[in-house]
Amino acid sequence: MTALVISDLHASSADPAIGERLVDFLDGAARRADALYVLGDLFESWLGDDDPSPANAPVLAALKRLTTGGVALYFMHGNRDFLVGPGFAAATGASLLRDPTVVLHDGVRLLMTHGDALCVDDVPYQKLRATVRDPALQRAFLRLSVKTRAAVVGEARAGSEAHTRTQAMALMDVNPAAVEDAFRRAGVDLLLHGHTHRPGVHDLVIDGRPRRRIVLGDWYTSGSFATLARGSVTLSPL
Ligand code: MN
Repeated sequence: MTALVISDLHASSADPAIGERLVDFLDGAARRADALYVLGDLFESWLGDDDPSPANAPVLAALKRLTTGGVALYFMHGNRDFLVGPGFAAATGASLLRDPTVVLHDGVRLLMTHGDALCVDDVPYQKLRATVRDPALQRAFLRLSVKTRAAVVGEARAGSEAHTRTQAMALMDVNPAAVEDAFRRAGVDLLLHGHTHRPGVHDLVIDGRPRRRIVLGDWYTSGSFATLARGSVTLSPL
């Protein structure tokens, strides 16, 4: 069994090259795998499954080709596309995963998460995260017209960019204690996440046990994916 894992593609109409790289990946390497996990921020923005904008259509079609071809597809929300819902799942054949999720692959248990929940030092962001993940608020938001939703998201994005510019880089990385907690709570030795756009493999020892944290990279200029095979994980550039 081979599974591939990707994250933080941030596909958008503003940067069509990302979508092209992704479609090539979905029609190529991903077709030779048994499963593909997407750990969030597949899209730069997702206004709701009823958004008729054609910008994401080639990616949705490629995801559908992948599942029709027999590859299992799993999708976890990121902080950009947390409104992906059952309409997306139906259109692509994806199964939606909760964040975090413990995955059993070839007898190895590993924890998958987008990664923003581990960045607890950024207190204003965590407050915002709790608000936008509120189901009642999401239902109310999805009742607005797509045009109104786009305007609201545009304003929120400007605020978020201003916030990010003023934050120290360290505050926007994962918090070491939150990482240790995540390993302990899940009872795993392997953790995969994205979000920070700092790809790397980090070996650490927690409670006397060696553990490994693998961070997926973004797809802005190239791309990055992890391969789960024969009980081990490797991180590769595209
Ligand atoms: Mn993210």
